[in-house]
Amino acid sequence: MKASVLLSLAALSSTGLACLLPEERDGTMMHRVVRRQGQSGTPIGTGDRFSGGSVVPRGLGSQTGVTFSTILNPTEIVSGLKALSNTYGITTFTTPYKTYNGATIYGAQVGGTGSGTGAYKVFFNGNIHARERGSADNVLYFIADLLYANKNNVGLTYGSKTYTAAQVKTALAAGIVFIPLSNPDGVAYDQSTGSCWRKNRRPNSGGSYGVDLNRNFDFVWDFTKKFASSVAGSTASTSPSSETYHGTAAFSEPETKSIKWVFDTYAKVRWFIDLHSYTGDVLYSWGSDDNQSKYPYMNFLNSTYDSVRGILTDTPGSGKGYGEYVPAAEGTANAAAAQRLASGLTAGGGKTYGYYQASDLYPTSGASDDYAYSRHFADPSKNLVHAYTVEFGFGSSGSCPFYPSVANYNENIRATNAGFFEFLLAATELGLE
Ligand SMILES: [Zn+2]
Repeated sequence: MKASVLLSLAALSSTGLACLLPEERDGTMMHRVVRRQGQSGTPIGTGDRFSGGSVVPRGLGSQTGVTFSTILNPTEIVSGLKALSNTYGITTFTTPYKTYNGATIYGAQVGGTGSGTGAYKVFFNGNIHARERGSADNVLYFIADLLYANKNNVGLTYGSKTYTAAQVKTALAAGIVFIPLSNPDGVAYDQSTGSCWRKNRRPNSGGSYGVDLNRNFDFVWDFTKKFASSVAGSTASTSPSSETYHGTAAFSEPETKSIKWVFDTYAKVRWFIDLHSYTGDVLYSWGSDDNQSKYPYMNFLNSTYDSVRGILTDTPGSGKGYGEYVPAAEGTANAAAAQRLASGLTAGGGKTYGYYQASDLYPTSGASDDYAYSRHFADPSKNLVHAYTVEFGFGSSGSCPFYPSVANYNENIRATNAGFFEFLLAATELGLE
């Protein structure tokens, strides 16, 4: 997005640039931003609808005629998870890192064949960006549906997509590890203030708050060094008050450490989705530069290319032209699952989702998906992880475009849940080992 466009949008919006980074990078959303008008979206739930774990969540794929009218609050995410554990016997965990405000980050493992953490091959992470409302809900309700359908030997329906009871068992057999709410401080703050808050809540030097967790992962994190000077500033920021502030070091934050801990602990994870909102698309690696499969030495570990990385208009192999290396077979699988994901999202929600290489939008640094995919390049003893950013929804009118209307909140659940289901089937077909 060009700076001049950003400025003209800022002039039209009370929240200005705060909400224009960096999930809203394509041209189509601009109309939606311009059109938005005063409404605050789906209300946040008050109290605890899951009563501390005694009332079990059930998603939209296992029941008809139901509309959810409020978004889950952080207490409900945790009590919903406990209820799934109480009802279906799934194993929950807490990561070893507490957030700045003292919150615990919860996760769980579901399905799988065999025993131990190696049985879980798919990792879903939700709500790393606080204001992307419904992200955690989408993950929790999907798992709730899978468990309900499995126990009752029934199928699931999302929009125009129906999955059979047998497919439910296939999907669960992949083994899922998930963190529905990976930024609890940010979500608590966003929900209580309605401030369209993106980052976590660490106090920074200079009096500002928050690190952009999706710029804090150890993949070309040091962007001022790793990218061409002409593009570096668009990949992240060193300014603490920026929406894309990358923190004081890679993995400086308990939230990103927690996600790394899942990859290290569940060492056989092969497939990963980080769930964001919004632009209605699926992104696959790399986000640092155009992909190329010809020159294995031309990669993010090679400092020879630091001064040219991120320039999308150069040609790899000619002069100092650079592209990020992807082995051809991995590139094919990365795109194939992205296509399946997008097809599920489209069928479940009824609006068309696209799939793209992440750098097509613009180069990024320190993002979770590229970090996940980079692990086996940086350390060949680590598992290959095919990694995706899903941007659910298409934006809303109102004070913050990440706050969905009730209709869109429900549509997003159906869309993401069919997308997740399709992803599990695609992962199984493309290979879990
Ligand atoms: Zn996001």
